[in-house]
Amino acid sequence: MSTNEFASRVIQWFERNGRHDLPWQHPATPYRVWISEVMLQQTQVTTVIPYFERFIDRFPDVQALARAPLDEVLSLWAGLGYYARARNLHRCARVLVDEHRGEFPASLEAVMALPGIGRSTAGAILSLSRGEPHAILDGNVKRVLARYFAVPGWPGRASVERRLWALSESVTPSVRAGEFNQAMMDLGATVCTRQPACHACPLEPGCQALAQGAVGDYPGRRPRRDKPHRQTTMLIIQSDRGVLLERRPATGIWAGLWSLPETDDRPARWAAKRLGLTLEATRAGEAIHHQFTHFSLAIAPVYCRVAGAVALRDDRHLWYNPGVDEPPGMPAPVQRLLKTLEPTP
Ligand code: SF4
Repeated sequence: MSTNEFASRVIQWFERNGRHDLPWQHPATPYRVWISEVMLQQTQVTTVIPYFERFIDRFPDVQALARAPLDEVLSLWAGLGYYARARNLHRCARVLVDEHRGEFPASLEAVMALPGIGRSTAGAILSLSRGEPHAILDGNVKRVLARYFAVPGWPGRASVERRLWALSESVTPSVRAGEFNQAMMDLGATVCTRQPACHACPLEPGCQALAQGAVGDYPGRRPRRDKPHRQTTMLIIQSDRGVLLERRPATGIWAGLWSLPETDDRPARWAAKRLGLTLEATRAGEAIHHQFTHFSLAIAPVYCRVAGAVALRDDRHLWYNPGVDEPPGMPAPVQRLLKTLEPTP
């Protein structure tokens, strides 16, 4: 199959079977495509849609996002994970407003130079919103190309990724590139899935993995590595003002989010030393588990109550009353732990 035939088959399939009603397609402005692409980087479309709608409702354009406090952006992101994405979105919005008059630049290289925007996201922004002929290579496209061309090896390896980029560029047409890219993403998401429906695929006649009877071998799997386990203790300190939250440092895991205090010390001694609070009761709760990409974390909660004065000494801590106060940006496992609590009257 020639590269022209590849592209025209994919686009024809898209016209009949592609996804045409995703919220970021109407209208497909660079800003909306950008937000959706960043949200979709680690997350399924169905999960992203309500997050996207809330985000766009609150920040309808790049100026609104640039003006917003980071806390508010993180709060709307809470639950999507990979919070560096939200921080980069915010940073990038400010660069766009300060240095590009609130518009995305015209060239691929200039878009790639913006914070948090890699080559595939830049290609998607420029092709989906402006129809420019740039290739993309997200997880769905990698799967389709690795199978169609029977590319061996794990796509996370640089040499395999380079080959896939070259193939993506070779099949991306110079006209209708936006539709083609959307079609490739849709094909990977709905047909060329873990259990592919090859009979419904427009690329079936030329697919090398299918011809080899080895579709399951492509793309190659990531080499196995056992994840390390870590554990921590989180204090759930309640007063009549709510639950004590502590802001995480600006770098590292959950950077800048509001979390529960963690300590290896005795809770009463920690609270007295750090915050001048007196705890009157503590009780150990059941541990919960959270998976990060590179390790798993066991969180042992300790429930505590404050006696007497509850005034806080610094702005790294606050009292949060679940169900009453607007929730600040919190990591998912902290939200899970707080769901077990009754609102403070
Ligand atoms: S024929 Fe099957 S394996 Fe090949 S690209 Fe299509 S869906 Fe994927």
